[in-house]
Amino acid sequence: MKKCVAPWYELNMSAPHNRVSACCYYSAETADWENGTLKPIESYWNGTELQKIRKIQTGQSYTGANGCDNCHFYQNQITDSRQAYAKFSVANPNQLSKQQQQNLELAQNEFDSGAIELKSTPLRLYANFGFFCNLSCKFCIQVPSRQELRNDIITSDQIYKWKTPLKSALSIDVIGGEPFALPESLKFIRRFCEDDEMNSVTLNIYTNATLLHKHFKPLTHKKKLGLFISLDSVYEGYDSVRLGGSWEQTERNVKEALRIKREENPDWNITTNAAIMFRTIPFLPDFANWHVENDVPTMFYDFINTYGVEDIFFTQNVIANPQLLDNLPEWESYFDRAINIFKDGGQIYPAETLELSKQKIITALENLNQRIKVIDPRKSVAGTSLIKASNAEDVLSFFELRSRDIESVSFVKHDESSFILNSKFSDDKAITNWMTVNPAETALVTLKAQWSKPEKFESRLSHVALQSHNGQFLEGMRYYNETDQNIELVTTIELPSDTKSIRVNITPTGEEPSHLPNQLYLYTDQQAGRFDSNLIARVG
Ligand code: SF4
Repeated sequence: MKKCVAPWYELNMSAPHNRVSACCYYSAETADWENGTLKPIESYWNGTELQKIRKIQTGQSYTGANGCDNCHFYQNQITDSRQAYAKFSVANPNQLSKQQQQNLELAQNEFDSGAIELKSTPLRLYANFGFFCNLSCKFCIQVPSRQELRNDIITSDQIYKWKTPLKSALSIDVIGGEPFALPESLKFIRRFCEDDEMNSVTLNIYTNATLLHKHFKPLTHKKKLGLFISLDSVYEGYDSVRLGGSWEQTERNVKEALRIKREENPDWNITTNAAIMFRTIPFLPDFANWHVENDVPTMFYDFINTYGVEDIFFTQNVIANPQLLDNLPEWESYFDRAINIFKDGGQIYPAETLELSKQKIITALENLNQRIKVIDPRKSVAGTSLIKASNAEDVLSFFELRSRDIESVSFVKHDESSFILNSKFSDDKAITNWMTVNPAETALVTLKAQWSKPEKFESRLSHVALQSHNGQFLEGMRYYNETDQNIELVTTIELPSDTKSIRVNITPTGEEPSHLPNQLYLYTDQQAGRFDSNLIARVG
């Protein structure tokens, strides 16, 4: 990888993540945002953490972990036609103010010379104003913690206190949550659009576009505007994943933005993006057609797993869980048709990012086929039972609740045959006792769970997983079978030979109470001698 430009280019701030860094992707320690206080921009830009990232990128010595290792951006968004995180060249340099031009030149020189402490100020200020959003997309990693973090916001006044460096930046990038639903980002957007001193600074807004129709008036005043729209799919595909949105309204809004660009503001930059999901694969050709017909650039990306979205990650992320494609054998033809539509329409970057995803899936399927030769998780192993719970109350008898605030978490009866997990924090959990595992050869453990199928699509299943003594989650390939009444999970896990103990964890997903399994079985191919007892002890 060539030297990454991010730590010489961007100051990336997020109030809800409480972090300030060079990008969203850096995975080691970052500076704190420290809600409510605002330090001079210099203390972040030339602080220890940003300087360390510059040292990593220039091959100098540093202490601590390398947060650029396995960078998600470089793994997912670098293609033949896009080779860098950002570029120092701009389309119309004569539209920049004198101070922007000087700052740009200085930043480029400092990047080229590998300077660690910078005299230039950030070319891009990227601000996450908060997690609040008007939609509840299932795969969104913010949804599970947005209630808890609702007061962690950046304010419009805070950003405006940095007016001098703001005027020297090329852009200010506003993200949430939904910037048009967050009062402080909306206040900032309005003020910035009306502020003639900021005419030459581009305002980039990362939005779901569902509320655009209410805000075109101030936006139209801003000539240098970028709208980065999370679309994910089109038509019914859109309605099935962007919960709370409607394709009809969103399409109308995007088309109105395109009309304004065409007729009034030719410098507007309107693009979309899409996560690759099982559910939206059949809509890929329609998605490509829509973008080519409307001349809108787009790109595809692979969404990540985190607390509270595991249910969606394991049922929708086909790159990490290629076994899902057993239920969509024609998946490749949807990709190929969409790639060809993009190419024929002259849209190279979307074609490249979709091709990248397709190649990752092919590699994942090859690996899956190799693994299946060793263990086939669909064929559960016969052997010793470790948990045997055939109804909802029986399941609960194995679990106790843990929380930062134990009063806020509970099992609640949902109907005759099922319970839900009512919780406040995304790290709440229900856990079994530990079961000691005696040292031996690798063992296979099968975990089976069954849920009554929730009545509403928006309802979510709690996440059931096996954990080992060191806190690691032991993942096997997860197979979900759906009938009219039930959803069943079967996963067979290879237990490492040094495993000392295991337990089952159940954690909440989404932000509403999540459904608990009404059956749970754990068993192993080993004889009971490897394990402490025949059954993990009940806690209830
Ligand atoms: S390599 Fe990745 S993680 Fe490191 S600064 Fe660049 S974009 Fe960020």
